[in-house]
Amino acid sequence: MNLASDNIAPAHPAVIEALARVNEGAATPYGKDETTARVEALLAEIFEHEVGVFLVTTGTAANALALAQMTPPWGAALAHHEAHVMHDECGAPEFFTNGAKMVGVAGADGRIDAGALADILAKNFWTPPTHVRPASLTLSQATEAGTVYRADQITELFGIAREHGMRVHMDGARFANAVVSTRETPAALTWKAGVDALSLGFTKNGAMAAEAIVLFAPELIEGLAERRKRGGHLWSKSRFIAAQALGLLENGLWLELAARANAQAARLTLGVAARGLDLAFPVEANEVFVWLPAEIHQGLQDRGAHYYVWESDCVTPARGGRPREVMARLICSWATPNEDVDAFLSAIDGAAPAKRASRSPGTPLF
Ligand SMILES: *Cc1c(COP(=O)(O)O)cnc(C)c1O
Repeated sequence: MNLASDNIAPAHPAVIEALARVNEGAATPYGKDETTARVEALLAEIFEHEVGVFLVTTGTAANALALAQMTPPWGAALAHHEAHVMHDECGAPEFFTNGAKMVGVAGADGRIDAGALADILAKNFWTPPTHVRPASLTLSQATEAGTVYRADQITELFGIAREHGMRVHMDGARFANAVVSTRETPAALTWKAGVDALSLGFTKNGAMAAEAIVLFAPELIEGLAERRKRGGHLWSKSRFIAAQALGLLENGLWLELAARANAQAARLTLGVAARGLDLAFPVEANEVFVWLPAEIHQGLQDRGAHYYVWESDCVTPARGGRPREVMARLICSWATPNEDVDAFLSAIDGAAPAKRASRSPGTPLF
């Protein structure tokens, strides 16, 4: 019953097969190999756009390097205040931008609120040279609350950012899950909505360690190769990062795996809802945030369930927790077996035999 994250999963067999396929003979190093070229061509096709592609092996590197391409040291990168770039990257965005300021923006359910973005940009603390210049906006897709941005929501935020001359970055650690969930095309969710650069995550999607910085704005390419090298993310045997991406992108496997993760999260959601437990956020991808009364949480721990207890300030009042409840973050991956979800739900039954009344019986789940 391990629902701690999607990176607890193994690599998908197709990824291992792709690695085995390229593990033969000589290949030009440093990203000049045939496998990397195929990944670049596939990404251009998938995104229906010319792209600059820079492979790295962590999402933190992808985010920090991409933000550094669009944010000068005296600039600000705006992000949701609970975003991965704000809290989970140990200052890497600040480090790689040479000290740009990260500025948090509010928004319910993990999504940056357009009004809050417009308000903060309208404040009088953006005047040079006293103040930093708002240079970039970064959106997590899917968000850290397991919700997604629809294309029109991205377009709206982009419109505000553009008025201030800012660039738009997307942290797509779970981009595949968002594509499946929104039923929109990769193009519609990125460059067509104003996104200049995407950190496209493969690791949580089924790779071992592979992420791609995908640039849609050609003027952002200059210097990124050097920045990646200085950041220690230019692999000499780079065919092995590329092979992981290839294994997922070929035949649409990346979307198939994301669909599997999302479907498992939907099953889990129905199960917890049927047991009278309440969701803290709408479930729109592969993450389920559920309020657990203390005794159920304890019972689940005793029965060996793995998940993180979460904290968030962007829960809407209607979905707020009650006293002695903890918010549990449950994540399904492509590899989460039915048995794990079923065992988790049975463990809830074991921990709290009596059914509870939901606080919002009429609220749609999705
Ligand atoms: C997992 C994740 C990343 C990438 O994290 P790394 O551990 O650096 O690979 C980035 N953004 C979000 C929202 C994530 O969930």
